[in-house]
Amino acid sequence: MRARRNHAKKLKLTNDGTLSIFFLGSGAAFSKQLNQTNVLVIKGNDHVMIDCGCRAPIALDRLGVSLTDIRTFLITHSHSDHIGGLEEAMMLGRYVSKRKPRIIITAEYQEILWDQSLRGGAEFNEAYDGKGLTFNDLWEVLRPQPLAEYARDTREIEIGSINLKLVRTNHIPQQSESWEQSSYCVGVIIDDRIFFSGDTQFDPELLETYDRKFRFEAIFHDAQFWTGGIHASLKELGTLPRSLKRRMLLMHYADSWREHSDEVRSKGIKGFAREGYFYDFA
Ligand SMILES: [Zn+2]
Ligand SMILES: [Zn+2]
Repeated sequence: MRARRNHAKKLKLTNDGTLSIFFLGSGAAFSKQLNQTNVLVIKGNDHVMIDCGCRAPIALDRLGVSLTDIRTFLITHSHSDHIGGLEEAMMLGRYVSKRKPRIIITAEYQEILWDQSLRGGAEFNEAYDGKGLTFNDLWEVLRPQPLAEYARDTREIEIGSINLKLVRTNHIPQQSESWEQSSYCVGVIIDDRIFFSGDTQFDPELLETYDRKFRFEAIFHDAQFWTGGIHASLKELGTLPRSLKRRMLLMHYADSWREHSDEVRSKGIKGFAREGYFYDFA
């Protein structure tokens, strides 16, 4: 893995075919200096944006990219730092670019995302065959397919040359003790090489089971600097086997991250994923 800072005024959504993860942001839900943890997976002519928080349209604009340039979205769960930019994405698609953005989504989560979040701002924008708009009027839906013989609910989809597997995680509520009890939330396995946690509580079983199968080259994990709540803490991540921590870059962290650099290093964790950087996997 090679980290490379973006210097281009206009971020490129294509490359020479190298698998690359670009961090539009690396911050937590309430970060103010950092952008939210939303990333672009780029490989050749293909790209997928994982999560689109309320500040993503601005973060993209600063990189010379319009939301309408993003062809495909994958959403991990319904917190605003992950979905807050979707209303703008679907409205721009319908009324400006006149092209539906594509979204990778299970039938189960489509219902949740529409009924509990997006519908309020979208359904009544115009009368349509005597009814309001539906999710399918605004999005081109791509369905990931369930995979058998995985430890937990795992779905797969190919976007051109990019293989993505969605794995259920245990994020909310705080009292939830397993992914089955958690409200819908997924992590993402990228090309069977990289694990991207999305948002999750500390869940060693998830990491160990899937790492045994894939031997990830890198693990991007959300992190919190205090223990409790709905993300894995530094203290908890510190208890993981050394071989996992060596490959782990933290993301979704608070603005105070620099104060925790020594602690991260002393726990044997590789470091922080940084916004504005590409992580290339040759
Ligand atoms: Zn979040
Ligand atoms: Zn969350």
